[in-house]
Amino acid sequence: MVTLEKIVNLCKRRGIIFPGSEIYGGLAGTYDYGPLGVELNRNIKEAWRREMFQLHSNIFGVDSSILMQRRVWEASGHTSAGFTDPLQECKKCHHRFRADHLTEQRIAKCPDCGGELTEPKRFNLLVETHLGPVKDDASLTYLRGETTQGIYVNYRNIKTAVRAELPFGIGQIGKAFRNEITPGHFIYRMREFEQMEMQYFVRPEEADKYFDHWKEERLKWYLALGMKKENLRFRPHAKDELAHYARAAEDIEYNFPFGWHEIEGIHNRGDWDLSRHSEFSGEDLSETDPKTDKKFYPYIIETSAGADRLTLAFLIDAYNEIVGGRTTTTKSTKDVEVVLRLHKKLAPVKVAVLPLSKKDQLIKAAKEILFDLKRAGLVTDYDDTQSIGRRYRRQDEIGTPYCITFDFESVNDQKVTVRDRDSMKQDRVAIAELSLWLKENLES
Ligand code: ATP
Repeated sequence: MVTLEKIVNLCKRRGIIFPGSEIYGGLAGTYDYGPLGVELNRNIKEAWRREMFQLHSNIFGVDSSILMQRRVWEASGHTSAGFTDPLQECKKCHHRFRADHLTEQRIAKCPDCGGELTEPKRFNLLVETHLGPVKDDASLTYLRGETTQGIYVNYRNIKTAVRAELPFGIGQIGKAFRNEITPGHFIYRMREFEQMEMQYFVRPEEADKYFDHWKEERLKWYLALGMKKENLRFRPHAKDELAHYARAAEDIEYNFPFGWHEIEGIHNRGDWDLSRHSEFSGEDLSETDPKTDKKFYPYIIETSAGADRLTLAFLIDAYNEIVGGRTTTTKSTKDVEVVLRLHKKLAPVKVAVLPLSKKDQLIKAAKEILFDLKRAGLVTDYDDTQSIGRRYRRQDEIGTPYCITFDFESVNDQKVTVRDRDSMKQDRVAIAELSLWLKENLES
């Protein structure tokens, strides 16, 4: 059974994710990626980037500022009362909780001290900051609460620059900040996190069609990256749950150890965003129908995922424990081996080079292979400590698809043993063909 605790421990132990500012006691809702986490998170973003920008000729990238004009957030509705999450405050300990979470869990008293709760109230989730030398109301601005607003304000710039026609999309990967009242479940809910958002601009009459299209496309993306079908589902939002801008919304939910929760939202935002930004900025963001000459605002179909939430979901999905072990000869039921069956595209390390023993001759040859693989662009690891079984085990635990051993026979036949993480099958591959063999197999 995979628990959140096991994932948190693995992440800490193997340098995937650490609590933010840990030596100072941490800072709630912040986490830092370690060496392996950097690679895993980067691979997830790269798979998204490839899907959106590489495989579509009508989706374009943007990288907008985290700091934006305050008016942007007025136009988007983030600073008005209607947007923010309703909270209930404990009258005794003054801790605040999301009203919808309390209702969901049928909790009527303060979860921390049992005190009486206030009626639900709305609070602003945007993180405030001040720009310039004077900290007053005029210098107040916000760290962006979502990446998508940076897409809308660039709608006209991008459409003109690339001469795009509807339908077309604009996507962005970047940091977002929310003063979440109850951050938690490790990197599931953070105060600083990264989003991967794609906004697809369509004619209003085609919005329903593209909403369905993107729902299916996004689900396929998860499945293609090896996520288990039974751990994914759609959850349509009920009418009374829809955000102020949304005409339709469905979450893609993942079956986390702490329940089914959203990892991505697919929304039909209607003409809310472009009409509001036209109104607030004075810049006309409407289009004209060439046939009827009538003006209209494109509708927006949004796909919005969190890179950190996906990192957590992919880690959980890949986590396997093999009781009795598989690399050891002394099979004991107390022996539990962890194998992270991450998709090869996502695995942080692609190949580990392991000389069979610490003999100089083997180490020297193994290091030559290692640097060849590095030069070929593969993320590698090198390990010459302890027994080969233990070294396989360490690589299995971080999901390395291939381990290469250079042994005494290699000296004579110029071949190495390549061991597959999942099947544990071992192949002898000529050193001269190794990087090509690996690249082909990593792609397959
Ligand atoms: P929730 O209901 O969980 O607060 P949301 O509906 O507010 O999420 P969106 O605004 O739709 O989330 O954001 C889109 C995606 O961004 C989410 O599906 C999630 O993957 C990610 N995300 C949102 N908030 C956070 C957060 N605090 N920490 C990590 N990821 C987040």
